[in-house]
Amino acid sequence: MTARRLEGGRLVVATHNAGKLAEIRDLIAPYGLEAVSAGELELPEPEESGETFEANAALKALAAAQASGLPALADDSGLCVAALGGQPGIYSARWAGEDKDFTRAMRNVEELLAQSGSDDRRAHFVAALCLAWPDGHTETVRGEVHGHLVWPPRGDRGFGYDPMFLPDGETRTFGEMSADEKHGWRRGEAEGLSHRARAFSAFAARCL
Ligand code: IMP
Repeated sequence: MTARRLEGGRLVVATHNAGKLAEIRDLIAPYGLEAVSAGELELPEPEESGETFEANAALKALAAAQASGLPALADDSGLCVAALGGQPGIYSARWAGEDKDFTRAMRNVEELLAQSGSDDRRAHFVAALCLAWPDGHTETVRGEVHGHLVWPPRGDRGFGYDPMFLPDGETRTFGEMSADEKHGWRRGEAEGLSHRARAFSAFAARCL
Protein backbone atom coordinates (compact mmCIF):
# COMPACT_ATOMS: atom_id res chain seq x y z
CA MET A 1 0.00 0.00 0.00
CA THR A 2 1.32 3.47 -0.77
CA ALA A 3 2.01 5.70 2.20
CA ARG A 4 -0.16 8.70 2.91
CA ARG A 5 1.75 11.98 2.64
CA LEU A 6 1.47 15.04 4.84
CA GLU A 7 0.14 18.05 2.92
CA GLY A 8 2.11 20.87 4.62
CA GLY A 9 0.75 23.20 7.27
CA ARG A 10 0.49 22.62 10.97
CA LEU A 11 1.54 19.55 12.81
CA VAL A 12 1.23 18.62 16.47
CA VAL A 13 4.39 17.18 17.98
CA ALA A 14 2.98 14.80 20.54
CA THR A 15 5.57 15.03 23.27
CA HIS A 16 5.85 16.67 26.68
CA ASN A 17 9.64 16.04 26.73
CA ALA A 18 11.50 19.30 26.07
CA GLY A 19 14.66 17.52 24.81
CA LYS A 20 12.75 15.49 22.26
CA LEU A 21 10.61 18.46 21.22
CA ALA A 22 13.73 20.53 20.50
CA GLU A 23 15.24 17.72 18.39
CA ILE A 24 12.02 17.07 16.45
CA ARG A 25 11.61 20.81 15.78
CA ASP A 26 15.16 20.89 14.36
CA LEU A 27 14.41 17.88 12.20
CA ILE A 28 11.16 19.19 10.69
CA ALA A 29 12.33 22.80 10.24
CA PRO A 30 13.76 22.26 6.73
CA TYR A 31 10.37 21.00 5.51
CA GLY A 32 8.55 24.26 6.27
CA LEU A 33 6.14 22.59 8.68
CA GLU A 34 4.86 24.53 11.65
CA ALA A 35 5.10 22.50 14.84
CA VAL A 36 2.94 23.03 17.90
CA SER A 37 3.58 20.79 20.85
CA ALA A 38 1.10 18.71 22.79
CA GLY A 39 2.34 20.54 25.88
CA GLU A 40 1.54 23.96 24.35
CA LEU A 41 -1.95 22.75 23.40
CA GLU A 42 -2.31 21.29 26.92
CA LEU A 43 -3.27 17.91 25.49
CA PRO A 44 -3.39 15.11 28.05
CA GLU A 45 -0.50 12.64 28.07
CA PRO A 46 -1.87 9.14 27.36
CA GLU A 47 -0.53 6.21 29.35
CA GLU A 48 2.19 4.39 27.38
CA SER A 49 0.67 0.96 27.69
CA GLY A 50 2.04 -0.53 24.45
CA GLU A 51 4.60 -3.34 24.43
CA THR A 52 6.71 -2.01 21.57
CA PHE A 53 8.19 1.36 20.61
CA GLU A 54 5.91 1.39 17.56
CA ALA A 55 2.76 0.69 19.60
CA ASN A 56 3.57 3.49 22.06
CA ALA A 57 4.36 5.98 19.29
CA ALA A 58 1.03 5.17 17.60
CA LEU A 59 -0.88 5.49 20.86
CA LYS A 60 0.56 8.97 21.53
CA ALA A 61 0.16 10.18 17.92
CA LEU A 62 -3.46 9.00 17.67
CA ALA A 63 -4.43 10.55 21.01
CA ALA A 64 -2.95 13.92 19.97
CA ALA A 65 -4.46 13.81 16.44
CA GLN A 66 -7.90 13.02 17.78
CA ALA A 67 -7.74 15.64 20.55
CA SER A 68 -6.39 18.43 18.31
CA GLY A 69 -7.98 17.69 14.92
CA LEU A 70 -4.52 18.06 13.34
CA PRO A 71 -2.03 15.49 12.05
CA ALA A 72 0.23 14.54 14.96
CA LEU A 73 3.75 13.15 15.07
CA ALA A 74 4.90 11.14 18.08
CA ASP A 75 8.19 9.52 18.93
CA ASP A 76 8.75 6.64 21.28
CA SER A 77 12.34 5.85 21.99
CA GLY A 78 14.72 4.24 24.37
CA LEU A 79 18.01 2.57 25.06
CA CYS A 80 18.35 -1.22 24.64
CA VAL A 81 21.34 -2.83 26.37
CA ALA A 82 22.38 -6.19 24.91
CA ALA A 83 23.65 -7.78 28.15
CA LEU A 84 20.44 -6.72 29.95
CA GLY A 85 18.20 -8.48 27.45
CA GLY A 86 17.26 -5.19 25.79
CA GLN A 87 16.42 -3.29 29.00
CA PRO A 88 15.55 -0.56 29.78
CA GLY A 89 13.97 -0.45 26.28
CA ILE A 90 10.44 0.95 26.32
CA TYR A 91 10.90 1.69 30.04
CA SER A 92 13.92 4.00 29.52
CA ALA A 93 12.11 7.09 30.78
CA ARG A 94 10.62 5.27 33.78
CA TRP A 95 14.07 4.13 34.97
CA ALA A 96 14.80 7.79 35.73
CA GLY A 97 11.93 7.92 38.23
CA GLU A 98 9.41 10.69 38.83
CA ASP A 99 12.14 13.28 39.23
CA LYS A 100 13.69 12.32 35.84
CA ASP A 101 17.10 11.74 37.35
CA PHE A 102 19.19 10.34 34.51
CA THR A 103 22.38 10.39 36.54
CA ARG A 104 20.68 7.76 38.69
CA ALA A 105 19.24 5.91 35.67
CA MET A 106 22.71 5.69 34.07
CA ARG A 107 24.24 4.48 37.34
CA ASN A 108 21.51 1.86 37.58
CA VAL A 109 22.33 0.59 34.06
CA GLU A 110 26.02 0.49 34.95
CA GLU A 111 25.38 -1.41 38.21
CA LEU A 112 23.17 -3.98 36.48
CA LEU A 113 25.84 -4.45 33.82
CA ALA A 114 28.45 -5.05 36.54
CA GLN A 115 26.12 -7.53 38.29
CA SER A 116 25.46 -9.36 35.02
CA GLY A 117 29.14 -10.36 34.95
CA SER A 118 29.13 -9.79 31.18
CA ASP A 119 31.76 -7.67 29.47
CA ASP A 120 29.40 -7.09 26.54
CA ARG A 121 28.76 -3.34 26.60
CA ARG A 122 26.86 -3.13 23.32
CA ALA A 123 23.70 -1.04 23.28
CA HIS A 124 21.48 0.68 20.76
CA PHE A 125 18.99 3.50 20.78
CA VAL A 126 15.67 2.98 19.00
CA ALA A 127 13.21 5.63 17.86
CA ALA A 128 9.81 4.82 16.40
CA LEU A 129 8.00 7.74 14.78
CA CYS A 130 4.30 7.66 14.07
CA LEU A 131 2.33 10.23 12.13
CA ALA A 132 -1.40 9.93 12.81
CA TRP A 133 -4.30 11.76 11.20
CA PRO A 134 -7.56 12.64 12.98
CA ASP A 135 -9.35 9.97 10.87
CA GLY A 136 -7.21 7.27 12.51
CA HIS A 137 -4.76 6.61 9.64
CA THR A 138 -1.15 6.05 10.81
CA GLU A 139 2.28 5.80 9.18
CA THR A 140 5.08 4.40 11.37
CA VAL A 141 8.86 4.15 10.83
CA ARG A 142 11.86 3.13 12.97
CA GLY A 143 15.47 4.28 13.28
CA GLU A 144 18.35 2.76 15.28
CA VAL A 145 21.90 3.70 16.19
CA HIS A 146 24.28 1.08 17.54
CA GLY A 147 27.24 1.59 19.84
CA HIS A 148 28.41 0.77 23.33
CA LEU A 149 28.21 2.15 26.83
CA VAL A 150 31.08 3.98 28.52
CA TRP A 151 31.62 4.59 32.23
CA PRO A 152 31.89 7.18 33.68
CA PRO A 153 29.45 9.20 31.56
CA ARG A 154 31.09 11.84 29.32
CA GLY A 155 29.74 15.26 28.36
CA ASP A 156 26.82 17.36 29.50
CA ARG A 157 25.02 17.96 26.21
CA GLY A 158 21.97 16.16 24.88
CA PHE A 159 19.62 14.48 27.36
CA GLY A 160 18.73 11.16 28.93
CA TYR A 161 21.38 8.45 28.49
CA ASP A 162 23.44 10.48 25.95
CA PRO A 163 26.57 10.84 28.14
CA MET A 164 27.12 7.07 28.40
CA PHE A 165 26.43 6.19 24.75
CA LEU A 166 29.33 6.03 22.28
CA PRO A 167 28.04 5.42 18.74
CA ASP A 168 30.01 2.97 16.57
CA GLY A 169 32.75 4.72 14.58
CA GLU A 170 32.78 7.82 16.85
CA THR A 171 35.24 8.97 19.51
CA ARG A 172 32.76 11.13 21.41
CA THR A 173 29.58 10.19 23.25
CA PHE A 174 26.25 11.77 22.31
CA GLY A 175 26.70 13.83 25.50
CA GLU A 176 29.83 15.39 23.99
CA MET A 177 28.21 16.27 20.64
CA SER A 178 26.27 19.33 19.56
CA ALA A 179 22.71 18.72 18.39
CA ASP A 180 23.83 19.01 14.73
CA GLU A 181 26.59 16.46 15.28
CA LYS A 182 24.21 14.08 17.05
CA HIS A 183 21.78 14.35 14.14
CA GLY A 184 24.72 13.59 11.83
CA TRP A 185 24.21 16.66 9.70
CA ARG A 186 27.49 18.45 10.27
CA ARG A 187 29.47 15.83 8.42
CA GLY A 188 26.76 15.20 5.86
CA GLU A 189 25.61 11.71 6.90
CA ALA A 190 22.97 10.95 4.30
CA GLU A 191 20.70 9.09 6.70
CA GLY A 192 21.58 10.94 9.89
CA LEU A 193 23.44 9.55 12.89
CA SER A 194 21.06 9.42 15.84
CA HIS A 195 18.17 6.97 15.97
CA ARG A 196 15.76 9.94 15.83
CA ALA A 197 17.46 11.50 12.79
CA ARG A 198 17.46 8.12 11.04
CA ALA A 199 13.80 7.52 11.83
CA PHE A 200 13.13 11.03 10.61
CA SER A 201 14.91 10.37 7.28
CA ALA A 202 12.71 7.32 6.79
CA PHE A 203 9.64 9.37 7.76
CA ALA A 204 10.54 12.20 5.37
CA ALA A 205 11.05 9.76 2.50
CA ARG A 206 7.70 8.14 3.23
CA CYS A 207 5.40 11.01 4.21
CA LEU A 208 6.88 14.41 3.23
P1 IMP B 1 9.71 8.06 25.79
O1 IMP B 1 9.95 7.89 24.32
O2 IMP B 1 9.03 9.34 26.12
O3 IMP B 1 9.08 6.85 26.40
O4 IMP B 1 11.11 8.24 26.51
C1 IMP B 1 12.27 7.69 25.99
C2 IMP B 1 13.41 7.80 26.97
O5 IMP B 1 14.51 7.13 26.34
C3 IMP B 1 13.90 9.21 27.21
O6 IMP B 1 13.34 9.81 28.35
C4 IMP B 1 15.38 8.97 27.42
O7 IMP B 1 15.60 8.50 28.69
C5 IMP B 1 15.70 7.83 26.50
N1 IMP B 1 16.14 8.36 25.20
C6 IMP B 1 15.44 8.38 24.06
N2 IMP B 1 16.12 9.00 23.09
C7 IMP B 1 17.27 9.40 23.65
C8 IMP B 1 18.37 10.12 23.14
O8 IMP B 1 18.44 10.57 21.99
N3 IMP B 1 19.36 10.33 24.02
C9 IMP B 1 19.32 9.89 25.30
N4 IMP B 1 18.32 9.25 25.83
C10 IMP B 1 17.29 8.99 25.00
